[in-house]
Amino acid sequence: MRNSLKQFIAGPCSAETREQVLQTAKELSEIGELTYFRAGIWKPRTAPGSFEGIGEKGLEWLAEVKKTYGIKTTTEVATPEHVEACLKAGIDALWIGARTTVNPFYVQQIADSLKGIDIPVFIKNPISPDVGLWMGAIERFKLAGIQDVSVIHRGFFSYAKGIFRNPPMWEIPIKLKTEFPDLQIICDPSHITGDSKLIEEVSKFAMQLGMDGLMIETHPNPTKAWSDAKQQVTPDRLKEIVQAILKSKSDTDISHEELEKMRREVNLVDSQMLEDIAKRMLIVKEIAKFKKENSATVFQHARWKFVLEESKKKAKELGLNEEFVEDLMNIIHKESLNIHHTIYNS
Ligand code: PEP
Ligand code: MN
Repeated sequence: MRNSLKQFIAGPCSAETREQVLQTAKELSEIGELTYFRAGIWKPRTAPGSFEGIGEKGLEWLAEVKKTYGIKTTTEVATPEHVEACLKAGIDALWIGARTTVNPFYVQQIADSLKGIDIPVFIKNPISPDVGLWMGAIERFKLAGIQDVSVIHRGFFSYAKGIFRNPPMWEIPIKLKTEFPDLQIICDPSHITGDSKLIEEVSKFAMQLGMDGLMIETHPNPTKAWSDAKQQVTPDRLKEIVQAILKSKSDTDISHEELEKMRREVNLVDSQMLEDIAKRMLIVKEIAKFKKENSATVFQHARWKFVLEESKKKAKELGLNEEFVEDLMNIIHKESLNIHHTIYNS
């Protein structure tokens, strides 16, 4: 697995109890291959009043994980005080959360607190899709003398609610890889998907795009987790995911490098196309609600004729087969009508 996953980080979203941390670590140690055990100690939560992390005593549990199972540990830091406590507790690597990367003042303070210290740092992408801000944070740590800086791609906030909690916008990590070919990019499918059922496919896709590793939230009893319950997988499920990734890797190994590159490009376009279709369907939902509230008819012939004609014109401009584009638009329209039907009957 080391060939395909240079970094493999797993563990709970948050450290909750000593038992939960040690049980997760025990089960994960049986998978092997882990480069780091993760657990959030201080949790940046959107709303006040929700669980904001167990605090410093969780660091002792992480130290126990390392001592008992020989796995290196990592946690999120957001202030120089967090850094100090982690260094004192012997945490092996630190990560900067998405809500911290957005703020250059915080990033600089943390970087300054690490001057002269040799510890790996993972930088999560900022919440907003701003590659410059992400690169700026990398630079701040490098300028502070940190040798081992890598990044974690956890998707970007979107107001529109689609299938992903934080849409991946794959073109952004790809741009980063192009700018810094030696930079390791670790994909965090947990925060991208927000859904344990989608972890496997997004993990595979990330590996196919040439990402260097994965960070996956793992909990012995995900539905009971104190944070991010919907997206955590059990260690057993993680084992299956890892095996599936290994298998898909060996399937692709038999083909030619050049072909793989083109396939990855096609996969990327397909994924973007589906994201665009998902966006279109969200707008259709809004239109359907509006029409329902205003007692308008579902199907307006002149409007549909206009959409079809415009699509065929565009097809011609783009050198696409007009008949194919008409078929495609008809399939999309059929689904739009289904959405109208559901909304009118709700
Ligand atoms: C986390 O890893 O649990 C976390 C809070 O992540 P992010 O900063 O990506 O939201
Ligand atoms: Mn989380």
